[in-house]
Amino acid sequence: MCNCMQDTLSFMESFIKDRLPENAVTESFEARIMHYHFRFDGSDNAVPAMMIDSSHKVKKVNGEEAKNRKKYETPIFGTYCPFCAEAYSTPKEEQKLWAVEIHGPGSLVAASSRAEADFRAAQINQEQKEYLEGVPEDQRHNVPNVEAVVVEWDGKREHHAASVLNADWNDVY
Ligand SMILES: [Zn+2]
Repeated sequence: MCNCMQDTLSFMESFIKDRLPENAVTESFEARIMHYHFRFDGSDNAVPAMMIDSSHKVKKVNGEEAKNRKKYETPIFGTYCPFCAEAYSTPKEEQKLWAVEIHGPGSLVAASSRAEADFRAAQINQEQKEYLEGVPEDQRHNVPNVEAVVVEWDGKREHHAASVLNADWNDVY
């Protein structure tokens, strides 16, 4: 993997530092790169990410629409370094296909990467936890137990690709 992110940061740090206003306390100068993401799918780490910002309203236990929107941020990554165009590497043994199995409803949804599978599973489990917290304790036994786990896709690659395209994560349980 190239070192473009770190090199660019070092260059920009000294560039900005040299141009601070006179009243700035130079020693206190700090800078960091935003909008990059650590990946957990075996690919090169700390690559730039764009975020998909999405949200929806939720129904409260009493059926009313809650005022606040539930927000999601989903990172998406490019395949090449935007500075030098070197391909971000994916080790061979990591070129597996991933999915999220949702226990309870028993559904299996293909994810485009290990990173997405991790993210989606955590999101579903968090949603379920928050949902349960809104249900009175003596009624929780009526709520089906939903648990999302990341699994390796053991079907065909073309079925995985089709499943990724058709995945509707808002309607998986
Ligand atoms: Zn680069």
